[in-house]
Amino acid sequence: MRVTVVGGGVIALLTAVECALAGHRVTVVDQGPIPYSRATSFDQHRIIRALHPADPLATAAALRAHHRWLELEELFATRFYERVGALTVLPPAAADAGALLLSDAGGRARTLTATALAERYPHLSLDGALGGVLEDEAGVLLAERVLAACVGWLKWQPGIDLVEHRPAVAVDGERGQVRLADGRVLHGDGVLVAVGPWARRLLPERVAKSLTLYRQSLLYCRVPRARAETWADTPAVPALGTRRGAWLIPPVAGTALKLSSAAVCREADDLTDQVTPEERQRELAAEFGDLLPGFGPAWVLGGKDCYYLSYAETGGPLVVSLGDSGHAYAACGGTSFKFAPLIARTLADRVLGRMPDPTGLAALDTAPLDATP
Ligand SMILES: Cc1cc2nc3c(=O)[nH]c(=O)nc-3n(C[C@H](O)[C@H](O)[C@H](O)COP(=O)(O)OP(=O)(O)OC[C@H]3O[C@@H](n4cnc5c(N)ncnc54)[C@H](O)[C@@H]3O)c2cc1C
Repeated sequence: MRVTVVGGGVIALLTAVECALAGHRVTVVDQGPIPYSRATSFDQHRIIRALHPADPLATAAALRAHHRWLELEELFATRFYERVGALTVLPPAAADAGALLLSDAGGRARTLTATALAERYPHLSLDGALGGVLEDEAGVLLAERVLAACVGWLKWQPGIDLVEHRPAVAVDGERGQVRLADGRVLHGDGVLVAVGPWARRLLPERVAKSLTLYRQSLLYCRVPRARAETWADTPAVPALGTRRGAWLIPPVAGTALKLSSAAVCREADDLTDQVTPEERQRELAAEFGDLLPGFGPAWVLGGKDCYYLSYAETGGPLVVSLGDSGHAYAACGGTSFKFAPLIARTLADRVLGRMPDPTGLAALDTAPLDATP
């Protein structure tokens, strides 16, 4: 088959990898360079954790994703997964339930009491009434390196074209055609559209209006040299147990310490700049001033805003059929990076007309994700 993949983010590139592994010809086309610094996937890091409290399906899927990322490191002969673990700070009863959920799914996790947390992580000021779950099969994906590794691998495969700086302006999912801004039309047996937060501009109006755009602010920081040793063993912390939903990614493999919280994620009308407004930077700095002893303005390197789309009805991802030959990953729901290898397998199954692989992301096969609005 000849497959056209529109987009050059993690979902598109890994779907192209899946198609190439199955021996198909693939054209990947992006509006910018591949990879593109404005893509949501383009950042120093993304968290991979298995624990999704009270969600056994997502927890089991994330464990499968962990193993698939390790296989991809082997395939690409590159390292991009820092297995520093993940710490989720929770009330003690929820931490016990979380550790049980993880071990039932085949993962390895320990619960930590408030005292153990304070001893182990003196550089985090956590709520003394909370405990935590520390999981091993988790950590930090060096996102930019992941994208570069996909591109590096794809370039060496026969039958793969990477077309840069060519925005797609229309997709005909019945005929497998993609029209580019320069007038060229790409013909394929199958089309996948995975254009991240730009999807509302390319997909049919009936799909676009079911999607909500979010904008989130991030603060990049440098840990002072004197404190670097304390930070060396810090896991990714997807939840610091605060009311505002603070989370952080530790400085691994030469990256910055990254700070954010659910409180600085807001709805946006359109994709504009990526500049973090001063007041959001101040808000984050004040929030983390209470959480990180010694934290101050000298730590802050800068900010960046990133965008993602969610299916308004569920707040999660959305896959839509665009006709007999076309599919779109219309919304990523804000947590798709870690699941990307599984999502890619499921999307490749659809585009190639294969039987669904049970190791893909089962959730993509269930309503309402499949509902074509
Ligand atoms: C602040 C923030 C933190 C996150 N943290 C995590 C995390 O810790 N863990 C996790 O698992 N997930 C996380 N996510 C989610 C994750 O980053 C995204 O789900 C994922 O990167 C989306 O990838 P994508 O390939 O769908 O889109 P993108 O990476 O945005 O790629 C889309 C590509 O399509 C191209 N494109 C757009 N329009 C066109 C067009 N018309 N023609 C051609 N090309 C086009 C773009 O140039 C771009 O390269 C986070 C998201 C945000 C915003």
